[in-house]
Amino acid sequence: MIFGERVKQARELRGFTQTKLAELLKVTQGRIAQIEGEFRDVADSLIAEIAYHTDLPLSYFSKAPVNRLSAGSLLFRARTSISKREVTQSLRDAEHVFGLAESMARDLYIPVSMRTLEGDPREAARKTRALLGLPAAEPVRGLIRTLEGAGVWVLAIPALKGRDAFCCWAQVEGRDIPVIAISPGCSGDRLAMNVAHELGHLVMHKNSLGRISAELEKEAFAYGAEFLMPEAGIRPDLQPPVSLTRISRLKPKWGVSIQALVRRAYDLGVISERQYRYLFMQISSKGWRTEEPIQIAPEKPRLLKKMAEVLYGSSLPLDRIAAAADMLPAEVSRILDLYADTERPSPRAKSRIVSFPAPSRVPK
Ligand SMILES: [Zn+2]
Repeated sequence: MIFGERVKQARELRGFTQTKLAELLKVTQGRIAQIEGEFRDVADSLIAEIAYHTDLPLSYFSKAPVNRLSAGSLLFRARTSISKREVTQSLRDAEHVFGLAESMARDLYIPVSMRTLEGDPREAARKTRALLGLPAAEPVRGLIRTLEGAGVWVLAIPALKGRDAFCCWAQVEGRDIPVIAISPGCSGDRLAMNVAHELGHLVMHKNSLGRISAELEKEAFAYGAEFLMPEAGIRPDLQPPVSLTRISRLKPKWGVSIQALVRRAYDLGVISERQYRYLFMQISSKGWRTEEPIQIAPEKPRLLKKMAEVLYGSSLPLDRIAAAADMLPAEVSRILDLYADTERPSPRAKSRIVSFPAPSRVPK
């Protein structure tokens, strides 16, 4: 007995249309539609074929479907940059990875201290920094580790394309968990901006994540800019005259893109609109809009691997982890590879090392 809805989810997870899956299985598209629409017996050999082509274990198809995550802020991106099928695939993949985390979290206790705030985005960003114990005017070191320490699940989602990220609040064992989904292929500066932006949505827009408007989007950008480049800290660095050479030197210090720094200078009134346009023309002519000089290494999330280590020990028995999450061991291995091994602080970290709380086993 299998759930047709699970076949649909598996197909969407792998980015297949019904026609594509039908081709792989050498059946008609109508047959796929029929299987997906029903809760019924499907020949074992056909289920095995579906499992083979979607890289999933048979157990995946006999579990009742659950919608683990809402599309949250991803829906706004759907209107702007990516196709509907890409949105669905990203969401399914996020659910898949979240399912892996959830299968382990049932036996762990991971405290959540992140909370929502109202009011002006810049004010909210400053308050969040204070809540997280970050200094008010300095660059953020170890952003993802800091958020993980506050109970935010930062999940690296293979299907998310290079520039994308999204967030939502999810329910785990009756508790609200803030989740940020990131793309593993993102540059470090872009990743920091994405994470800070999504953090803004989580903190300010908890009840409107499915209805992100252009206005709320602007708030998240304002929040992200103040969070990563607080006015109190960056204004002294942006004294005129502002040139690309000077801005470029600030990139490694603040861990954000040259473009974000130019934008910040404009938003803080340090440069005029004419100067802003001129700097962006220079950025375009140098080809920096697609690839900037000075690479910032992206920070890998850690939580998922840490959960596995606490539960199973550092040898990470992939078959057991996979079985608990209805995945194949090879996929668990690919996913865990996207997470950091140790909590070594970055060599550049100086003022503050945020200790990452070990998820502890739930006492039985
Ligand atoms: Zn957004």
